[in-house]
Amino acid sequence: MARVESTNHPCFNSRVKHRSGRVHLPVAPKCNIQCNYCYRKYDCVNESRPGVSSTVLSPEQAAFYFFELKRENPWMEVAGIAGPGDALANPEQTLETMRLIREKLPETTFCLSTNGLMLDEYIEELHELGLRFLTVTMNAVDPEVGKDIYGWVRYRKRGYRGIEAASLLLEKQLSGLEKAVKLGWHVKVNTIIIPGVNDGHIEEVARTVAGLGVEIQNCLPLIPVKESAFGELRAPDAQMTKTVRAKASSYVHQMMHCGRCRSDAAGLVGKKTSDQVIDFLSYVRNLPKDMAEERKHFAVSSQEGLLVNLHLGETRSFHIYTADSKGIRFLEKRTAPAAGNGDARWEELAGLLSDCRALFTVSIGGRPEEVLASSGLQVYKVQGLISGILEAYNQGEGLKQYARLPGFRAGKGSGCGGTAMGCM
Ligand code: SF4
Ligand code: SF4
Repeated sequence: MARVESTNHPCFNSRVKHRSGRVHLPVAPKCNIQCNYCYRKYDCVNESRPGVSSTVLSPEQAAFYFFELKRENPWMEVAGIAGPGDALANPEQTLETMRLIREKLPETTFCLSTNGLMLDEYIEELHELGLRFLTVTMNAVDPEVGKDIYGWVRYRKRGYRGIEAASLLLEKQLSGLEKAVKLGWHVKVNTIIIPGVNDGHIEEVARTVAGLGVEIQNCLPLIPVKESAFGELRAPDAQMTKTVRAKASSYVHQMMHCGRCRSDAAGLVGKKTSDQVIDFLSYVRNLPKDMAEERKHFAVSSQEGLLVNLHLGETRSFHIYTADSKGIRFLEKRTAPAAGNGDARWEELAGLLSDCRALFTVSIGGRPEEVLASSGLQVYKVQGLISGILEAYNQGEGLKQYARLPGFRAGKGSGCGGTAMGCM
C-alpha cells in the first residue's frame, strides 16, 4: 500500500474522498511566475480549472470561515491554500492564515499548493506551523522544455526570462521538494500535459520526482485559456492523457480522481461546493477584514422575532442572529440595559453588542447612534421581515426597500422616528 493511502487527505488518498473533505482558503491573490497557460484574471491553473475567479479573503476572514465550516462539518479535515495566485507568492497571508487556525485548532491537517519558487525559503516555517501535505506544480525537469512553458519568473525583485527563468524555477523546485521529502511530508507533484510542448517529457518528470521521494503525481490535461500564450494550443485528447499517465505510473503513483477544484472550493472532492457554503463565503468576504471573528452576529429590535418593528429606546431585549454555513439563524435574546443614566446606558449597550456587526432597528436617537457607531457597530434604520433584511445585508445588497416607511410613528428627535422618549 502506498504511504499516501494511510492519510485522511482526500486528494492524496482516493479511499477517503467520500468521507473526508477539504476547504480551500483563498488568501493568496498574487503570483511570482507566468505560466504560458495561465491568464491571471482567473485562478491558478496549476491547481484549478481555468476560467474561474475565486473570492479573496484576509487571513482573519479565512480562519473564521474555516472554524465555522469545521464546526458544522467536522468531516472537513483539510485546510488548503491553493491560490487564487501562488500560496508562497503571498507568504504573509498564507503563514498568518495557518497561524490563526493552528492557534485554535492545532490538530488541523494543512495542505498547500505552490509553483515551488519560494518553497525552500519558507519550508521551515511551514513545517513549524504543521504543514504535512504539499503539492508542487512541475511541468519540466529540463530548462530547454521549461523555457517554452514559463513566460517569466520574478525572484527577489528581479525578473528572469527564457532559459534563465526556467533554470531558476527548476533549481528551486528540486531543492524544495528534496527538503519536503526529508521532513517527512506527503508530497504530490502536479504536471500539466501540454501537447507538443512537454507531453513527451512527462515520463522524465515522473522519473525525477520519484527519485526524490515524491509519492504521487497528478497529470492534468491542459485546458487552453483563450487569453493565455497557449490559448491556441489544443487540449490533449483522452488517448494522450492515458498514455502519459501510464508511462508516468511506472515511476510514481498517479492521481486519477482530481476534481480541478476552485481555489475557494469546500466539501468533498468531486462534489460541487454547496450553495449554502458559497453564500457563507460571500458573507465572510463582506466582513471587516481584521475583525471577522469578533463581530459575527447581528442585533435586531423586535417585539416577537419576526419583524424589525421597535425603536431602539423601546427595545427591552435584542434578538441576536448569526450567519454560518447553514445560513442565518437565531442565536439568543439579550436584555437591554435599563433606561436612564445618559451615555452610560449606550456604552453598556455597546458592550452588550460588542460581538455584533450590525444593529437593525426602526429608529434611534442621535446620541445613542453616535455612541454605538463609535464602538464599531453599524446601525441600520429599517423595518420589515427580519429574515429578508438579514439575507439582503448578508448578500451585500442594499436595504433601501426596508427603509422605514414615512409616517411610521413620526417623532421629535433628529434622526429618530419614535417618541423621542425611549432613548432618554
Ligand atoms: Fe498562473 Fe498558477 Fe502559473 Fe502563477 S503559478 S502563473 S497563478 S498557473
Ligand atoms: Fe484535490 Fe485536485 Fe481539488 Fe486540488 S484540485 S483539491 S488536488 S481534487
